[in-house]
Amino acid sequence: MRLKVTIKIDKPLRRGLKIAMNQNSSKWVDIKYERLGDFCYYLGRLGHVDRDCNVMQVAQDEVKEVVYKYGP
Ligand SMILES: [Zn+2]
Repeated sequence: MRLKVTIKIDKPLRRGLKIAMNQNSSKWVDIKYERLGDFCYYLGRLGHVDRDCNVMQVAQDEVKEVVYKYGP
């Protein structure tokens, strides 16, 4: 399924959403984004790339391995 939506770009992008299948069950659906501009895969925010991410650089100084919340 492909959707065109309006999003608030000052918030992290949603990685997925729960869809109600019926009254008793729901299913998690991953969201894929196309044609994003500069995107930080660490924070999930538009406007900068992860190599310029101040938050990720602070995290790298504190821990050995930084875990990205967003993938390709
Ligand atoms: Zn960032």
